[in-house]
Amino acid sequence: MDANERAALAAMLEPELKPYDDRFERHHRLPATGLSRDDVLAEMREVRALEEARWSDGYASGAVYHGDPDHMAFLDEVYALNSQANPLHADLWPSATKYEAEVVAMVAAMLHGGDGFASAPDVCGTVSSGGTESILLAMKTYRDQARAERGVTRPNIVAPVSAHAAFDKASQYFGIEIRKAPLGPDFKADVAGAGDLVDEDTVAMVGSAVQFPQGVIDPIEELAAVADEHGVGFHTDSCLGGFVLPWAERIGHPVPPFDFRVPGVTSMSCDTHKFGYAAKGTSVVLYRHPDLRAHQYYRSADWPGGLYFSPTFAGSRPGALSAQAWAALVSIGEEGYLDATGRILDAAAVMRNGVAAIDGLELHGDSLWLVAFGASDPDIGIYGVLDQMGRRGWSLNGLQKPPSVHLCTTLRHTADGVPERFVGDLAAAVDAARTDPGSGGVMAPVYGMAASVDGRGTVEDILRTYVDVLFRV
Ligand SMILES: *Cc1c(COP(=O)(O)O)cnc(C)c1O
Repeated sequence: MDANERAALAAMLEPELKPYDDRFERHHRLPATGLSRDDVLAEMREVRALEEARWSDGYASGAVYHGDPDHMAFLDEVYALNSQANPLHADLWPSATKYEAEVVAMVAAMLHGGDGFASAPDVCGTVSSGGTESILLAMKTYRDQARAERGVTRPNIVAPVSAHAAFDKASQYFGIEIRKAPLGPDFKADVAGAGDLVDEDTVAMVGSAVQFPQGVIDPIEELAAVADEHGVGFHTDSCLGGFVLPWAERIGHPVPPFDFRVPGVTSMSCDTHKFGYAAKGTSVVLYRHPDLRAHQYYRSADWPGGLYFSPTFAGSRPGALSAQAWAALVSIGEEGYLDATGRILDAAAVMRNGVAAIDGLELHGDSLWLVAFGASDPDIGIYGVLDQMGRRGWSLNGLQKPPSVHLCTTLRHTADGVPERFVGDLAAAVDAARTDPGSGGVMAPVYGMAASVDGRGTVEDILRTYVDVLFRV
């Protein structure tokens, strides 16, 4: 794409991405005199009213995992009490480091590691800004461990094709080759296929519990055993599943071992800001032993600005977000998470059964709470269905390889009638997509292009333009 083509595409995307252009004043530079606080707040209240209903009424996949008004009000109060805190200054805010240490300990214990767990007593970790950062940190840690302990200079990681894009991002950022292991027909990682990709430069293997596209659990025990045999680390990505699977297991669902009970698992990522029900901006990365975690730390002994160290990528960090994560965990407690998980799995079961009963659709994978589906009828374009659901207010996730769509069930879908509304709207969307196969929306043709080999470069151009538009005032 040349600059003219990008400009034409940007003009197409703008109405959708910039709905407030004519509604609110746009600021290209600092106002000479500050706006009144009342005006600022009034504008934000108006925007919130425009945006809230869609996620609050359960029309979104994932996105807002809790969202009950009293829970949000509580976390807002916690933020206000801690808004100045910065864990970088441990002397000024020992509260922030206490909250972080306890968040790490509580998440480790939930995943069967740390004090009191005989098989994994040394599990430790840090708080990060989100799942992506947890994954980037873990991959950098393995790279640096392998360099220090084994002299590996051309590192690679082995991850299933279903692993989160953050592993690719780590590969690009840190100069680590990523080798993609195939999936079986159940969308779970193929263990032998993964093992075949390991060599002497492999620094870690990866599996997910659960993976994002279909929400299924990779065979973690088997994958981690392969990693163990080769003497390399194994990372379980439980960003999405870490706060659901332990409680699903307690309720009595069959959950294969995925956490520190599995001997070969040496690190995990688990998002407090998803099913931990904290506000956005925190996650936990865990390691089986402090000697591994130490490769994550940044330390500088010769900076004129002083002796400097930081556990994660950032320097200054929002202590208030860690305080919110801590407050979410201790206020909800085991009973709260059990109850929430039970309600989410019940709502998901209604939606999964509903999808299974719609002529022309097929469920993908055996997830407990993701509802992933494709078209079983060649006359139905699944991205047309995605677009039709969009017209009915739904914000679902488009997936590819294979073309499909998912909804990640959250507490927002547990209100009376929401699962039934989803199934009803989906049946209508399928009918509409059948009679009007041309209805493609903006993204359907892009997914189509991505599926063809020569379309890849164009799709990357489109994604670049999309991000450019996001930052246009
Ligand atoms: C959400 C998610 C991530 C990344 O998390 P962010 O918080 O969006 O950075 C990683 N892995 C899985 C399986 C996820 O669902």
